Amino acid sequence: MERVYNFSPGPSMLPLPVLEKVKEALPVYGDTGMNVMEMSHRSPMYQAIIDDTEARLRALMHIPDTYSVLFLHGGATMQFASVPLNLGVKGEADYIDSGNFAHGAAGEAAKYLKVNVVASSRDDNYVYIPDWDGKLNDDADYLHITTNNTIYGTHYTKLPESKAPLVADMSSNILGEVYDINKFGVVYAGAQKNIGPAGLCVLIVRKDLLGHAAANCPKVLNWTTQTENGSMLNTPNTFAIYVAGLCMEWLQAQGGVEGIEKVNKEKAALLYDFLDNSRLFNATAQREFRSIMNVTFVTGDKEKDAAFVKFAASKGLVNLKGHRSVGGMRASIYNAMPIEGVRLLVNAMKEFEVQG
Ligand SMILES: *Cc1c(COP(=O)(O)O)cnc(C)c1O
Repeated sequence: MERVYNFSPGPSMLPLPVLEKVKEALPVYGDTGMNVMEMSHRSPMYQAIIDDTEARLRALMHIPDTYSVLFLHGGATMQFASVPLNLGVKGEADYIDSGNFAHGAAGEAAKYLKVNVVASSRDDNYVYIPDWDGKLNDDADYLHITTNNTIYGTHYTKLPESKAPLVADMSSNILGEVYDINKFGVVYAGAQKNIGPAGLCVLIVRKDLLGHAAANCPKVLNWTTQTENGSMLNTPNTFAIYVAGLCMEWLQAQGGVEGIEKVNKEKAALLYDFLDNSRLFNATAQREFRSIMNVTFVTGDKEKDAAFVKFAASKGLVNLKGHRSVGGMRASIYNAMPIEGVRLLVNAMKEFEVQG
């Protein structure tokens, strides 16, 4: 069977050359006599793999030595609790509520410290990034944002400036858009959207923020302990880290984040241009905040939406059904989605519109 174009929000498509490399290393990786899945995480051969993955991530995101890079368990969701447990010194943090995941992060943090939701677009079903002007608390332990809102298809067009360290859940646009890492105290991201396979969370933390974890912080959640142990306090997700490294190698060959960002913008523009001129389909996110990773759109008629999702699937364009809180369709077009897949999607929409 041929491969489909998978528009899933996560886990999502991986680059085909990466899958082929994974296959090539089965059952034997290099001259090790075994596959990566079978290696001890304490072995020199595995140490070389995790070091290589970290070096590639540092190169791609221009991460200086003043930051620690960790490969952790528990997805992005685990960090919703880890963030307050590691940073909650004064016991108060600002959160910008720009979507379901941002809301969830604030809810989890509220178990550990006082959460100030300084701005929210929840009452408008998160179709825009809310305005934080004049509302930030410079004395907070940190300010938490979600750079790209996976469900609603919005992203920040400028970053908030606070004296408090900026903590970002970057799960759905890390490595897809260029950011200056120096603007952040902490960046974390579940891997299954734009980094590699599920079951891995990448966390980047400025080293001066380490050493302040709460006394009751579980040790696997403690970034200081994890830094001291090279992400190997216990057995990390060895295979996912390896595949993430292959994805990063692939990304470097595409011109890095700077190179892929151009392609991602082109892919998004193809879709939004079509949507803006369509008689049938409409983009749901406010224009100014449109995500280049998740494109949400509707026909305004639930039955037509469902018919289109089916029609697209018959053409090998799958997983286009939108999240229940927005309805309609969502095309997740992360780094591994080729521009050809987006062209085929636009053609399918055109065809469907004409058939009406
Ligand atoms: C997918 C997603 C999450 C949840 O990630 P898990 O790895 O499943 O915990 C959190 N935040 C954002 C922005 C996401 O897109």
